[in-house]
Amino acid sequence: MNKYLHINLSTGSIEKKDFDPALARDFIGGSGLAARLLYDLIDQNTDPLGPENPLLFMTGPLVGTAMPAAGRCTISARSPLTGFWGESNTGGFIGPELRFAGYDGMLITGRSDKPCWISVINGEAIIHDAAQLWGQDTYQTQESIRQILDEPKARITCIGEAGERLVKMAAVINDHGRAAGRTGMGAVMGSKNIKAIAFRGTGKIPLSDPEAFIKSVSEILETIKDDISNQALRLAGTAGYVDMALMFGDMPIHYYQQGEWDEASNLSGVLLAENYLTRNTACYNCPIVCGRETKTTKYRVDSVHGPEYETLASFGSLAMIDDLEGIIYAGHLCNVYGLDTISTGSTIALVCDLFEKGILTKKDTGGLEIRFGDVEMTHKLIKLTALREGFGDLLAEGSAALAAHFGVPDLSATVRNLEIPMHDSRAFSGIAPIYALSPRGACHLQGDMYFVDTGQGAPVELDIHPGERFENSEEKGRTAARAQAWRSVYNALIVCHFMNPGASQLLAGLNAATGWDYSLEELMLAGKRIFTLKRILNAKLGSTKADDRLPDFILKGFPTGGTLGFEPDLKPLLAGAYKEHGWDAINGLPTPATIEKYGLAFTKPDLT
Ligand code: SF4
Repeated sequence: MNKYLHINLSTGSIEKKDFDPALARDFIGGSGLAARLLYDLIDQNTDPLGPENPLLFMTGPLVGTAMPAAGRCTISARSPLTGFWGESNTGGFIGPELRFAGYDGMLITGRSDKPCWISVINGEAIIHDAAQLWGQDTYQTQESIRQILDEPKARITCIGEAGERLVKMAAVINDHGRAAGRTGMGAVMGSKNIKAIAFRGTGKIPLSDPEAFIKSVSEILETIKDDISNQALRLAGTAGYVDMALMFGDMPIHYYQQGEWDEASNLSGVLLAENYLTRNTACYNCPIVCGRETKTTKYRVDSVHGPEYETLASFGSLAMIDDLEGIIYAGHLCNVYGLDTISTGSTIALVCDLFEKGILTKKDTGGLEIRFGDVEMTHKLIKLTALREGFGDLLAEGSAALAAHFGVPDLSATVRNLEIPMHDSRAFSGIAPIYALSPRGACHLQGDMYFVDTGQGAPVELDIHPGERFENSEEKGRTAARAQAWRSVYNALIVCHFMNPGASQLLAGLNAATGWDYSLEELMLAGKRIFTLKRILNAKLGSTKADDRLPDFILKGFPTGGTLGFEPDLKPLLAGAYKEHGWDAINGLPTPATIEKYGLAFTKPDLT
């Protein structure tokens, strides 16, 4: 669409702005272009919850087109949870609807002096009073806005009570249960007094070469149909990975301190499907259909969105809970209040761990007895966190702050202050450098080496080959860095990581949609450019090479279980990754030659 909206909530001004075409080509869209736009707007003095922190919703060049699984939207700002670069992307339908409404993105600056919501309908944006919506949950909010607009087809993204109370792990929820969960973008929205944004449009996405684009889409659809991973996702959703994860030792148990646990098999995706599944759901134009809707009779909820694998692990094996219905309800509470399930589940599991170790006592928790495996206490802690009540006020700050508060920062399973997702680096060594270097903090969406090394969707034409999962070598670190660059392209396009038709097919679709003339080599260069730009942005925000680490306790080998005693060694893995990214081995920053090669000369003042 080549346009974005800029809304300044402090002044009430609404402007339509054009993208610089050269920037759009170099940084593609999604979180790539978002990083480039925000690079000039934030620095170490930016308060993540202050009016000066810009909040950016971005789509990408394939969003809303006929390209399958390309219906995503990225939300970015300086993260209140980590203090560094924040990004989180969501599926569902809001990305396409934003483009149908006439824009590729939306930049929000300033702060409204009272609760508001914003509508963007066929090009026209209006700021509304949200006094009546404040305090509603994420499901009520979406319904209320559709009724106010009298527009049943409007797509709405919103915060729940957690975002209103500036809980640092607050998510932004859209389309019933789809979440931009990570890095606390819900708190940034709450800090600006924005309850919700509604999109509706009937515009068409222009394509440079429609015929070539449709040909590319047809080929990709054929690949998806034949892809065994996509068939598995269609059959069992992401929960289907539970059994495989347990076999590899990839699913963390007992806050990363146990190699196996028999009861974990009660979390199987097959059991979930047999006993609680009500229907399968899909994001915009996605034939993979990995989404799941479940129900719980025990907690009297007929329609729960999820749980996904990450939710099953963070409220399940991590916290030693094997009650599927209790986990379904925990995920539902997070959706209703607007919380990230990974960060919330992981923070509650940390509390269990600190209590078990005697570091925390009932004196600290307001009289609560907290132990692993207590599903009812987990539900209580979710509510206390969302509402910042009692002990929940401390949990609302996230794991890193909680551990620091009790004088044990090394006991929190975080990297750059973000809770580690539910993949264990002892099961796949390549995920160790991915976590250590991910710009938003430990992240499985910046390079999924557990997929690469199990032969699922590895683009070998980009020299990303499946390999030995227990390998501590520079070459493994280099492969991980290439995977980071490739997923940076995905996060810029912005397409779902489960759609892996091969790099050349995706490239053909991108060039046909945009009229660009990218080669595969240039596309990878763009991925590296984006990844390195976020690295420099984090340096500008105060991150150093010392942050390229994983907590020691999650690197210790287990005598039993699927990881077979393996311990990742970050030294060679990181050395290889630095080389592949073109970063200096001493200070971890891009070398002058890399800055030139990636076209990032504008960052030089910040590097000195
Ligand atoms: S594979 Fe799943 S998450 Fe990805 S676009 Fe399709 S339904 Fe959404």
